[in-house]
Amino acid sequence: MTLVVKVGGAAGNALDPVLDELAVRPDFVLVHGGSDEVDRLGAALGRPAEYFTSPSGVVSRKSTPAHLEVVVLALAGAVQTRLVAGLAARGRSAVGLSGVDGGLLRAHRKEGARAVTDGRVVRVEDDRSGTLDSVDPTILRLLLGAGLVPVVGPPAADPRGELLNVDADRVAAAVAVALGAETLVLLTNVSGLRRDPGDPSSVIAHVARADVGSVLPFAGGRMKKKVLAAQEALAGGVGSVVIASSQGKDPVARALAGAGTVFR
Ligand code: ADP
Repeated sequence: MTLVVKVGGAAGNALDPVLDELAVRPDFVLVHGGSDEVDRLGAALGRPAEYFTSPSGVVSRKSTPAHLEVVVLALAGAVQTRLVAGLAARGRSAVGLSGVDGGLLRAHRKEGARAVTDGRVVRVEDDRSGTLDSVDPTILRLLLGAGLVPVVGPPAADPRGELLNVDADRVAAAVAVALGAETLVLLTNVSGLRRDPGDPSSVIAHVARADVGSVLPFAGGRMKKKVLAAQEALAGGVGSVVIASSQGKDPVARALAGAGTVFR
């Protein structure tokens, strides 16, 4: 049964233990984000990340066309290539795919995003953020069938070929659903969803499918996207989703054994 594992890209994520462990696993798809690399490369190119706050208080990255170029360079370029090289160095052949390759991820542009600026609500102009519509898993099945590891990350494309930035946690959920995966593991820089974001001892161990909505308010910032991804994966038939730490030895095996927050 294919396993889908998503590795985080924010500071504090450990990649080597994940690759060490995955390199000897049979069937899996690796999905990645890379927010730290996007920020680093953007700053180096004189295009620092910009953020906006929605009227409901959610902070999002502004995906202007100039920023989207940085996203493509950082994710489909640097981060993905390093992951493929990391697996190759451990004796595992992998193939990097953005959502555009093989028609993997279809999305449409998010319309009507609003930002609060100087106390006024204004439209976010020219935002190239997308909402996922569908996944075509054909290319993933071909690669898995040939013994190759698909390494997948943003961007996606709309039907006219316009590139769109999409959230990697939601991509991982959609891929897990499309492959009929039994389990989705979202590895990150914290050991699970906390009741109190500042208290590491407050990790919620189990969330039943019907209760996902009730734990959503505990998640701040980008943790919210992970909880939404968990909700979408379960709704799409994935048996369980685990949010767990990427640090320490054998993070995937520990997550599969229930360390972290298990949504079922
Ligand atoms: P990644 O790059 O690994 O996907 P993110 O930075 O996107 O990681 O999301 C993880 C972060 O979410 C944590 O480092 C933490 O700062 C933040 N966070 C907000 N609310 C919570 C919460 N309730 N429990 C755990 N982490 C939270």
